Amino acid sequence: MNSLWSDSEAEAFPGDLGQRIYTSRLLGREKSLVLHGGGNTSVKVTEKNLLGEDETRLYVKGSGWDLEHIEAAGFSPVRIDRLLKLAKLKQLSDPQMVNELRTQMTLASAPTPSVEAILHAILPYQYVDHTHADAVITITNTADGLTRIREIYGDNVVIVPYVMPGFDLARRCAEQFATDVRKNTIGMVLMNHGIFSFGKTAQESYERMIDLVTWAENYLAKQKAWVLPESSEKPQAKPLRRELAALRRDLSVTAGFPVILAAHDDPASLAFARRDDVAIISQQGPATPDHVIRTKRVPMIGRDSKAYAKAYKKYFDENLPKSTEPKTMLDPSPRVILDREFGVATAGRSAKDAAIVFDIYAHTMEILQRATLLGGYKALPAKDIFDVEYWDLEQAKLKGAGKPPFAGEIALVTGAASGIGKACVDSLLARGAAVVGLDINASISSLYNRPDYLGLVCDVTDEKQLAEALEKTARTFGGLDMLILNAGMFPPGCRIDALGTAEWGKVMRLNLDANLMLMREAHPLLKLAPNGGCVVVIGSKNVPAPGPGAAAYSASKAALNQLARVAALEWGADNIRINSLHPNAVFDTGIWTEEVLQTRAKHYGLTVEEYKRRNVLKTEVTSRDVAELAAEMCGPLFAKTTAAQVPVDGGNERVI
Ligand code: ZN
Repeated sequence: MNSLWSDSEAEAFPGDLGQRIYTSRLLGREKSLVLHGGGNTSVKVTEKNLLGEDETRLYVKGSGWDLEHIEAAGFSPVRIDRLLKLAKLKQLSDPQMVNELRTQMTLASAPTPSVEAILHAILPYQYVDHTHADAVITITNTADGLTRIREIYGDNVVIVPYVMPGFDLARRCAEQFATDVRKNTIGMVLMNHGIFSFGKTAQESYERMIDLVTWAENYLAKQKAWVLPESSEKPQAKPLRRELAALRRDLSVTAGFPVILAAHDDPASLAFARRDDVAIISQQGPATPDHVIRTKRVPMIGRDSKAYAKAYKKYFDENLPKSTEPKTMLDPSPRVILDREFGVATAGRSAKDAAIVFDIYAHTMEILQRATLLGGYKALPAKDIFDVEYWDLEQAKLKGAGKPPFAGEIALVTGAASGIGKACVDSLLARGAAVVGLDINASISSLYNRPDYLGLVCDVTDEKQLAEALEKTARTFGGLDMLILNAGMFPPGCRIDALGTAEWGKVMRLNLDANLMLMREAHPLLKLAPNGGCVVVIGSKNVPAPGPGAAAYSASKAALNQLARVAALEWGADNIRINSLHPNAVFDTGIWTEEVLQTRAKHYGLTVEEYKRRNVLKTEVTSRDVAELAAEMCGPLFAKTTAAQVPVDGGNERVI
């Protein structure tokens, strides 16, 4: 591991806190050091308070910030005198400790200081860096981990046995450090947890961290436990979408809420899931207890979520100490699934959660395999892991998490690159759904760059491309709950006596046939939607009130409307609802340039504004209005409605 320090970059970060920000970000860039909150840093600074007195403050990373993107506002200043006195107490409960950390801050708007703040305070160095370095955890998680750590570091580090994070750990470290510190001590290893380094300057502390971790990496290399064999595993070529959707449904039922299920079939994930000894090496516990909240203690192997839930209940019952207050069992659904066909699938309440679980497990797989090469992985006893999983502070965090209405659900929108389709993508994302956008326009793939969006270039009139899009949807998010049929065309005006068969066929192919094919292919997935499936058809005012010159368009939309009505009859038993909305005169869609609008308005002797509001309510209907109605049709408001047709046109005299 190389130092990323650069003198010229560092100059842009003046002052003690500035330097602290700079090297914290350097640590944050190295994911094998700090993964999703696994690490924190601090600096001690003496400043004048409002009364003109000198006050030494510990600026420690606040919760909710990650090191890679931290700013000054991400550090909480805490009066260090108080922390040092607290460290001498015999006992301090977690809620009391958090209360002290918050009330001893000198800036009311700062975030809650890290629970490891007292630990930072007791180390008598200006800069302190702490990471959960993969290489160090790999070595400590083996049967003879302690001997190996001593062999690597000698008295360059103080070694502290595993204690759960919190006050007891800080006190234990203070005692151990006072007795074991030597002249050449530059760090501290916390068994099964991570590593500290410290120094007089930010650069010194940071580079010591890099050195200490490099020693661990070199040790692993020397023991032939660093480089993992190249994998040439190939993903399963046959369609897996129904199996994935069935598994996602089971997991959602066990969890009690819909989950996103992301399958990863990269060579490394497949190689791990297909290892002969996977049932042994994957079942011992997480690499560090702080991952247990996101990953659960062990992954599920195969697809039997009922058996997994049973085992989880047993683990809960066995480790629940009789003396403590009663605790409620968390949902017993797995977050990591290892399967020979799917590879490594990860589950979460949102696509972002599922992606974080995969990030963590990708590192866990390396740690497990390297520790195995080193002679055998050994995790902490289940009780220690349980204590972190059912730690009051972590539980409080979970409870605080708000849940948007479509959390864990998956929507697919056709014609999603612009206009009403794009507005539907926005409305569904805003409600917490993971969204797949299909469009023939290549811009669909880069519409958004976020974990809950997947844009696929797709000609919806091509059956093969539709099947591929659904397969990709299921492998990325686990299934399909909502389908918005929006893609369509509005050809130039043409009277029946001049309407060519080819032109008629083209309109039918896109506005009608494509929707039949997509509905047919999506049905098995919609049937497995945990909360019931839902289809929304973007129809047209032309269904109830056709216009001259639009025969192909009006006929195609009317036929689609009839198709939806039949689907409502056929699919009700599968708990799939299908509702239609009929927009009219939506002008913010790209087809309507300012020039076209002006020509049309002039034709009727109106201004553009009057033309846009040519309806009973004299109001303009936008793409967003249509999209919001489409999204609501997928939600609880329409839970008991199917085959409805709702106009969204500002009131049209011919329809009324
Ligand atoms: Zn830690």
